[in-house]
Order: sequence, then C-alpha cells, then structure tokens
Amino acid sequence: MNEGNGRDDFSRSTVESIAKRSGYICAYPSCKRMTVSGSNDRDSGLTMTGVAAHITAASEKGPRYDHNMSPKERASEINGIWTCQIHGKFIDDNPSRCSVEELRRWKSQHEKWVFDRVESGLELFSRGVCRLSFSKVYPFVGEFNIPVGRNNVLVGDIELGITFCQILSALSGGENWKKIKYLFDSSTRLGCFPYIELSHQSDNGTTRVKISRQNMATGRRKADNARQRVHVEVNGCPSPDWPRSLFRVLYFGNQLYRTHYTELKDTFIKALRYLANVLGTDEDLIWDSLREELFASSMFGNQFRRTGHRTVDIRVPGRDFFLPHKSLSFTEQQFAFLDIALKLVSCISRKEHWIYIFDTVFFERLDQSNKLSIFKKLTAYESGNVQTLFCLNSKVDADMLTNILTEKWVNAEQFEGLTLHSFL
Ligand SMILES: [Zn+2]
Repeated sequence: MNEGNGRDDFSRSTVESIAKRSGYICAYPSCKRMTVSGSNDRDSGLTMTGVAAHITAASEKGPRYDHNMSPKERASEINGIWTCQIHGKFIDDNPSRCSVEELRRWKSQHEKWVFDRVESGLELFSRGVCRLSFSKVYPFVGEFNIPVGRNNVLVGDIELGITFCQILSALSGGENWKKIKYLFDSSTRLGCFPYIELSHQSDNGTTRVKISRQNMATGRRKADNARQRVHVEVNGCPSPDWPRSLFRVLYFGNQLYRTHYTELKDTFIKALRYLANVLGTDEDLIWDSLREELFASSMFGNQFRRTGHRTVDIRVPGRDFFLPHKSLSFTEQQFAFLDIALKLVSCISRKEHWIYIFDTVFFERLDQSNKLSIFKKLTAYESGNVQTLFCLNSKVDADMLTNILTEKWVNAEQFEGLTLHSFL
C-alpha cells in the first residue's frame, strides 16, 4: 500500500498470493497463459509476465474505482485478479466490457479451476514419484517439499534446474547418485546437514526413501572418507539397501554433444553406450537390437538397418532411403536416439517405473517444430509407468509445452529461482 500518492497498490506479498491462487496462470476466460518462466539474466532466475490487476482501481482516476471501499480492502488479495500482460491491459482499457461483477466471476471461476486441478491431481496421480523433498543440498540453501506430477516443466535458473534434475535422479541410485554426491560433500563442508527424500506410490502403497549424511562420531580430518557415507532410510527405518527398484531414470542431456576432445568422436556411439549403461545391459546387445522388425513402428518413425560392428543405416521419416548414422544431421541423430531409447525401455521393462528427464541442453540445437513434436509425443503417454520432467530455460519453449498441457495442469511450486509446473 502506498498512501503517499493516493494509490492503494498491492504489497509484494499480496501480489504473490494473487499469483499463487491463480496458479501463475492468466485468469481471463479461456486464456490460461502461463506467466512465469526462466531468465538467464535476472537474479531471481525468473521472468514474470503476469500482472496483479485491480478489480476496482487503486486510485480515484482508475477504472472501476469504488469510493465505498477502504484503502485496506482496495489493496487486499480479494481485489486482485491475476492476468497475463495482454489481458491486464485489456481489463484496464475496457472497464465497460470488464465490469467489477465480470472480473469477480472470472476470478472465482479460475480459482475454482485451479483448485479442482490441484485436488483431482492429488487423487488421480497415484503412481510413481509423487513428492520430492530436500534440504540444504548445495547450491540450494532452503528446505523444499515439492509435489511431482506425471508431466513436469521446470523453468528458471538453468544451473539450479539441472541440479534439481540431478537430485531427483539421484534417488534412483547408481551412477545418478554419484553425480550429486559431491553436492552433499559441499553442503557438509559448509556446515549443513543435507538430505533428500522422495515419496513413491505403487500398488503396494507409498514408499518414502530418505538419503542423509551418516552421523559419525569422529570429526578428525583423516576420517573424511568415512564421513562421506550416506544414511538410507526406507519408510522411516534404516536400510542397508539402496531402493533401486523404485524407479529408473533416462536422462536426455548432452549425450550427443562433443564435450571434450578426448571423448569419442562419434557421439551417436557415445549416446548408445550411455543407454546400455542405463539399461544395465551390454553395448553390443543395444547395437544388435537395431533390427527392422523391432522398429517397424517407432515413436518418431525412424527405421534401422544394422551394417557393421558400430554402424547402422537409418531411414528417417519422410525419406525413402537409408543413410549411415554418421551422415545424418544432428537433429536427425537426436530423433534416432530418442526412438531407440524409448523403444528399448518399452520392450525391456514394462513393469518398471521410469522418469524421462530432458534437460535444456538436449533442445539447444532443435528448431521449434522439432521441439513441439517431442513435447507432444512425450506428454501424450497414457502408460502409467512413465513420468517426464522437462527442464527448460527458454520462455518460448516453456510456453509451447505448458500450452499443450494447460488442461492437465495441477500445480505450480516456486523455490529459489525455479518454478515447477506439474501436470496430470
Ligand atoms: Zn491472458
């Protein structure tokens, strides 16, 4: 509230609560535009493209000003409606078409829509990873408890986003845990006691897994190695075993990039090696599986014909001849890799639960239509055993994906420069 200039503006916390009640989604009828996305340049890591519009104006000359309201009422959450910038302007400029009654009706309809999504989401989404909590895992400083949906879109600071993806992956154990172990060590050096905890639902009920630092009596430097041990708890009881069977992670990141000169030059081979590792199988078996029969129907329409030890000819959709994998463009290789990965996961392990994580690097060199195709196909999964997490740092990408999923939206959670939108 700013009484000095005769305006009853919303305070920062009121703006935030108007935004949250609206799920950071424009409340103008049928708009449903997401109004939060990542920013590389802002300290918050976020770009807010929504506005808290006044239902009755903040000052006497504004639209729909109500003399009978007290300054406190005028600056309260009840007097605000969350919209995108276009509709915020539209509402301000067209008070005759957007009356107080209309705005109140839009607000309450929209908030009911949001509430219903959250409520039904919690009931309907009953399989897989449903919640992730973590505390003081470097570089995060706070404590978070975040619901996870079937499809999830993470926007905001890209470094933190990738760390969040790694924290989620870590609970699947093995290599994925090794990737974040150093974050635990960094946190500990800073005098914090980090933990990560995850809830997973299956036919057998909810399993909670918590990974924390093992409490060691000794504090001597030489005992550092011993002190790096972790403590695993399953449903509140200490467990000697890492619960690998809960879910598995397929991480689509930089497999197809040449990141270092000493690495394998043929990044397609590198990507399939990664896949063999994730599936816990032999690299040769992955190559041997590249047969026409198996890929007669693949998600993106690629066909494969094995030609040698580490060579395969690929027919990309829309082309009527096969080409060696090395001759394909980067984009074509990305799609071929996606087809192989998704097909093999579906063949090998129908009963296991999977999370497909796409970090922003995967999309770096793809054009908009290719991204759209991936977003559409990957989120159309009706099978109960796959969840997706897209970590995106471009506003255009985030808008494109959230627009596809708008009707399935259930929740938005903000934490330290990141926003996680979850969807059914
Ligand atoms: Zn709008």
